[in-house]
Amino acid sequence: MVDVKGVLDKVDSCARACGRAGEVLLMAVSKTHPYEAVMEAYAQGQRLFGENRVQEIAAKFPPPGQRPDGMTLCLIGHLQRNKVRKVIPLVDRIDSVDSIPLMDAIEHDLASTGRTMDVLFEINSSGEAQKSGFVDEVSLMEAVAHLADCPHIHLAGLMTVGPLGGDVERITSAFRYTRGLFDRLNRMGLGLEVLSMGMSADYEIAIREGSSEVRIGTAIFGMRSYDA
Ligand SMILES: *Cc1c(COP(=O)(O)O)cnc(C)c1O
Repeated sequence: MVDVKGVLDKVDSCARACGRAGEVLLMAVSKTHPYEAVMEAYAQGQRLFGENRVQEIAAKFPPPGQRPDGMTLCLIGHLQRNKVRKVIPLVDRIDSVDSIPLMDAIEHDLASTGRTMDVLFEINSSGEAQKSGFVDEVSLMEAVAHLADCPHIHLAGLMTVGPLGGDVERITSAFRYTRGLFDRLNRMGLGLEVLSMGMSADYEIAIREGSSEVRIGTAIFGMRSYDA
């Protein structure tokens, strides 16, 4: 049972309760679920989708020109440099840019076709070693400075994955830290619009802390048969 509407209602009422009505977009994370489930969500009005593996995107989705009207697909999982060339034609945005070498690989590929692409910088806001993302402000600022050498990359915002385990205080502080960086970059004049924080288990906290986009898989599509 794909349930976009139920989740949208919850996201909207949470946003309203925080005085943020209409400010939070829903991304449906369809990893491990078949394309039929994607189309069921689409039929319910969902347009923004996230997937975390290049191979799965290539196997599951039709080529970009043959997708349903208005469907937008973002890569939200860790991207290896040797997969950049393959994924760029398949997605509208890369939400998981986490290093300068990866920026260089993306820029190199975009420049060869003249295309410009939106990306998000991923922040490792929990300090967990197994998580991707820029680990501190210094490395983030170096990447921001490096945008000057990447004219085909447009930084649209930041993304983070909160700490696992359900500790509300730790989750809150990870999201608050990321929000702080987001505000800081905007005070520098970057004009960022996307703050992607919150998944099925922690989106309410994320919305409270200023998320503009929540990435929801399980609550929409049900349990995944393997943990991807
Ligand atoms: C799988 C995934 C999600 C969605 O997680 P759920 O707990 O199923 O809502 C969100 N963000 C990323 C980066 C993911 O890999």
